[in-house]
Amino acid sequence: VGMLTMSGLAACTDDDGDGTKVPVRGGDGTGKVGVIMPDTTSSQRWGSDDPRLLKAAFDAAGVPVDIQNAQGDPANFQRIGDRMIAEGATVLITANLDPASGKYVLDKAKAAGVRTIDYDRLTLNAGANFYVSFDNVKVGELQGQGLVRCLSEQKRKAGEGPPRIAYLNGSLSDNNARLFMQGYNSVLQPKYDDGSYLKGPDQSVDKWDPKLGRSIFLEMYDQFKDQGIDGVLAANDGLGGAAISVLRERGLNGRVPVTGQDAETQGLQNVLAGDQCMTVYKPIKKEADAAARLAIAIFKGQQVKTTESVKDPESAAYVPAVLLEPIAIFKEDVGKVIKDGFVSKKAVCAGR
Ligand code: BGC
Repeated sequence: VGMLTMSGLAACTDDDGDGTKVPVRGGDGTGKVGVIMPDTTSSQRWGSDDPRLLKAAFDAAGVPVDIQNAQGDPANFQRIGDRMIAEGATVLITANLDPASGKYVLDKAKAAGVRTIDYDRLTLNAGANFYVSFDNVKVGELQGQGLVRCLSEQKRKAGEGPPRIAYLNGSLSDNNARLFMQGYNSVLQPKYDDGSYLKGPDQSVDKWDPKLGRSIFLEMYDQFKDQGIDGVLAANDGLGGAAISVLRERGLNGRVPVTGQDAETQGLQNVLAGDQCMTVYKPIKKEADAAARLAIAIFKGQQVKTTESVKDPESAAYVPAVLLEPIAIFKEDVGKVIKDGFVSKKAVCAGR
């Protein structure tokens, strides 16, 4: 358990890298917390769950917060960061959109003595003060294991041969996409090695864009028309939904297991319909609460508690972190997500 005392921060100084000392902001309950979300298209969460739950946590503590969304535009991400720093933010919480704009904002923050928390996505080589996320390798493991389970439940006809797996990976600009990949590869590679599965087409989807995911999957499907695609490792619900839309048009939905992540409303509906094998539920309230707890402690000059540290694969530096547990959701588990209050029964069951 890492514990850093942030009391009296205002009296401390930080090295901004060029030899000059910059006073660290905050620690005395002044200023505000700035939050920057990446987009509203790669996942439902960034435009709804995360901002809502973060706002609730800061409101409950009476700490002023400014939550913005870069809407998928890196220049906008940078502008928001610059503005928040200029307006006296004492802590910044960022879910980066891409490595360059993410690092730009963290470097500017550091130079201004603003403490930073990487939210969900680690910003490589930027040295955030803290990192709050889920165990993202575990997320990938759950996806790989989920696909294996759904494939084993499929009644494959004799003589059909091993199932061929296609991949829609997340954006390579997102460090998480690599961690998810590491997780599901650890489950699926042994299956290719022992010949029980066949590795099919494997592509990353830039910006996690579901529209692009759909056109990539259309091409994959056509390319493998003769051999067939028997399972799809889709890295989140948006990409899973893209594959499912193509399968539906061919009457193959429900016969080709597809994975996902985020327990989005649409993803849960696809799971209930039997068109999606599983999704991964990440209780975002816990993530928002953990990030808010750190930010509030920094803001007030209280002790900051983390549970582990994560190695930045580029700089090799360790970042004090809080990592939470993801949960696999199959058809029979959808009720758990509703019970947890993440989504309403009405929303999930609409149209059923
Ligand atoms: C997040 C996922 C999300 C994806 C696309 C990842 O960094 O961990 O929850 O689906 O980005 O926005």
